[in-house]
Amino acid sequence: MKNCLFCKIIKKEIPSEIIYEDDKIISFKDIRPKAKIHFLIVPKEHIESVSDLEEKNKDLAGELILTAKKIAEKHNLTGYKLIFNVGRRGGQLIDHIHLHLVSRDIEELP
Ligand code: 5GP
Ligand code: ZN
Repeated sequence: MKNCLFCKIIKKEIPSEIIYEDDKIISFKDIRPKAKIHFLIVPKEHIESVSDLEEKNKDLAGELILTAKKIAEKHNLTGYKLIFNVGRRGGQLIDHIHLHLVSRDIEELP
């Protein structure tokens, strides 16, 4: 999607600190971390928000959560929060669906 910040990050037109990537999902560090660990897990397909998810996206939605789990394991996080902000009134500022992974657990920094 043109003019979407996260689509530009996915296409590497804007730099980011990528910590995970496969054919469907990318994960990178949040530029303004709200905790010691703050990653964003983002599907490469441009879907605006959880409120735009459809039945056909259910595998992708599940993969976002499983990817978060894998990333947490890789970084030895024993506790963390997974957050979807949905819509402006839900705190969503970037209109490309993303899962926040935040943790105060600093056993091993990435
Ligand atoms: P939202 O409020 O939409 O749920 O979360 C958007 C997140 O994207 C925010 O936590 C914000 O700090 C992060 N963010 C905004 N612009 C950039 C950027 O250019 N690069 C990275 N890595 N993160 C960004
Ligand atoms: Zn996008």
